[in-house]
Amino acid sequence: MPRSEPLMLGKDGEPVNPPFTYERYEAWKVVVVNERDGKRLSKKFFSYVAAKQKAQELQEKFEGRAEVGVISRQIGYGPPESKVDDQHLLRLNEQGYYWCPYCRKFREFPYLPWKDSRACEFCFTPDHSFHVVACNPTLWNPVHYKRVFGGA
Ligand SMILES: [Zn+2]
Repeated sequence: MPRSEPLMLGKDGEPVNPPFTYERYEAWKVVVVNERDGKRLSKKFFSYVAAKQKAQELQEKFEGRAEVGVISRQIGYGPPESKVDDQHLLRLNEQGYYWCPYCRKFREFPYLPWKDSRACEFCFTPDHSFHVVACNPTLWNPVHYKRVFGGA
């Protein structure tokens, strides 16, 4: 199953900047979500290393009070290679967890009325987005499969 060919695979969730990233495009975003009221703050970064460092600082600062994440703004990353296995992904999907290729974690995708679709609970990427479909077997269907992988 050519599940992840369109994706850049992160090494254990630690991706490097994509080689084809635009030099002046801030490809990464650090997001802080207040656990209590859901308020969000974010800042964009050019490099993953800088974003990750800021995220770690904020994580320590807001320990237990906010969720901090680094979101890829440009491309989707597949799960780390240790987790790329159709059966493993299928099991997680069936338990309600989907791989989000933009915040690079297994997330729940609740229905969001303001998006009129199911979307990542953290970064709000809808479940019909190209790389979300590619990473999650229960979202595959013949139409998508044909479109994503050129026929089956
Ligand atoms: Zn996400």
